[in-house]
Amino acid sequence: MITVLVVGAGPTGLTLACDLARRGLSVRIIDRAPRFPDSSRGKGLQPRSVEVFDDLGVAEQILQAGTQNVVFRHYERDRVLRDVALYGHLNPTPEVPYLSTLLIPQWAIERVLRARLAEFGVRVELGSELTEFSQSDSAVTATIVSDRGTERVEVDYLVGCDGGKSGIRKSLGVRFEGDTSSTQVMLCGDVEVDGLSTDAWHQWLGDGHIVLICPLPGTKAWQFQASPIDDSPPSLATFQRIVDERTGLPIRLSNPTWLSTYRINVRVADRLRVGRVFLAGDSAHVHPIAGGLGMNTGIQDAYNLGWKLASASDSLLETYQEERLPIAEWTLRTSSQSSAAVQASSRDRSAGVDAGMTDDVRQLGLHYRWSSLSRDVIDRGDRLQAGDRAPDAQLTTADGGRIRLFDVFRGPGFTLLGFGAGCAEALARLTDRIQTHLVTPEEDEDGHAFATYGIDADTLVLVRPDGHVAMTAAGEDSDAVLDYVKAIM
Ligand SMILES: Cc1cc2nc3c(=O)[nH]c(=O)nc-3n(C[C@H](O)[C@H](O)[C@H](O)COP(=O)(O)OP(=O)(O)OC[C@H]3O[C@@H](n4cnc5c(N)ncnc54)[C@H](O)[C@@H]3O)c2cc1C
Repeated sequence: MITVLVVGAGPTGLTLACDLARRGLSVRIIDRAPRFPDSSRGKGLQPRSVEVFDDLGVAEQILQAGTQNVVFRHYERDRVLRDVALYGHLNPTPEVPYLSTLLIPQWAIERVLRARLAEFGVRVELGSELTEFSQSDSAVTATIVSDRGTERVEVDYLVGCDGGKSGIRKSLGVRFEGDTSSTQVMLCGDVEVDGLSTDAWHQWLGDGHIVLICPLPGTKAWQFQASPIDDSPPSLATFQRIVDERTGLPIRLSNPTWLSTYRINVRVADRLRVGRVFLAGDSAHVHPIAGGLGMNTGIQDAYNLGWKLASASDSLLETYQEERLPIAEWTLRTSSQSSAAVQASSRDRSAGVDAGMTDDVRQLGLHYRWSSLSRDVIDRGDRLQAGDRAPDAQLTTADGGRIRLFDVFRGPGFTLLGFGAGCAEALARLTDRIQTHLVTPEEDEDGHAFATYGIDADTLVLVRPDGHVAMTAAGEDSDAVLDYVKAIM
């Protein structure tokens, strides 16, 4: 059985551990923290991450713990300038069931993922620190120190989900290229708030200052963020002084449970893999929080890596870096643009943090078209093609019930879709190797699936375990699919 040690139980490590555990791998996940974090940190969950959680079987719990109905309320001191309902004009479509950024504190996401992991019999080992490791061609040997003593373990793979200051990255000698701003510092924390309504994320941007006070669903806490007034360290008194000076409103802060600062870092690792050791999440990339991409990119790194680790194929594992490094670089560029847009709003009050919430940050358009894993045997022109996100669609079953393509994909393996009756024979030939599904015009009575996938003739569409299109081929071409599957697995 393949054994994996995941270091770090933030959203990246937990997503990876869930994905590995459901595949039946032997997984351990350790964290040096003595207890689970209760700070809100990443509170914007992007639609593509909700799709990942849908596949892992926790989308419902995640949606229930968050909200999509918070408006962005902009102020000039005590005067409301405008309310912006960022996603008010968007309705979920059959191909995009999760459309808008979900507001949910990071600890709540982590709690749902830990519960899912426990269902597979895996628990986070708290107070357990990776102190050193070495690797050979066939294994990684790791030293874990906890109050139970020092333990040496041998595993097939080690994954560093150990955050921006990653000791694993440093031990590997992986460079972390980029900048750390000496000037752009923000104060942040979780506090209780009296004097503001919970229907809005309250935002004061102007004259170069930023104050953001956001209610956190399902709790009495609010996330507070602000540009500092002076060098005062983060404290309730400092936060209150900022509120008093910059809003002029009778807002009272109390009961802080988290007081911190963050500095704007823009850095990416020059490699995501060294032999049997991988980097994912903040250990591989850090960038401005504007646009809400950090945690989300980590979750999606994990989702890209899980099925490749389960294959233990060296060439497939090599595509983790091939596919995710360009995405990390995209994330740095996109979040830096979002940050610049928010900074511009902080000068002229034209918007709030919504200035950084572009369509791109929903991450639904990210693709791997350039990847060596993407293969279009037929010319797809500008239609959906290999590497693209495989969209959802509503289907009607023979007995009149409704299912979604996401239901068909759910699970750890590939799915071969055959669009049109002419694919039936090819599916029958492959059904003992891959999960298959024939999409007929009768089943697709609303026409969404055929339209979204751009089908005008019988077509095979192979969908990867992480919900991207692996290949497209003519409806009868089972050989092409078989060759592909044999080559990568
Ligand atoms: C105020 C704020 C707002 C944010 N908003 C958003 C947002 O809206 N959307 C978004 O996507 N992101 C947001 N982020 C960023 C997000 O919080 C991070 O990107 C995210 O936490 C990264 O997750 P991770 O699992 O990669 O690493 P982390 O969450 O940093 O987890 C790393 C873990 O590794 C453990 N660890 C480290 N070294 C060791 C070791 N040697 N042995 C064992 N354990 C170890 C640590 O204890 C830690 O628990 C925000 C951040 C802040 C501060």
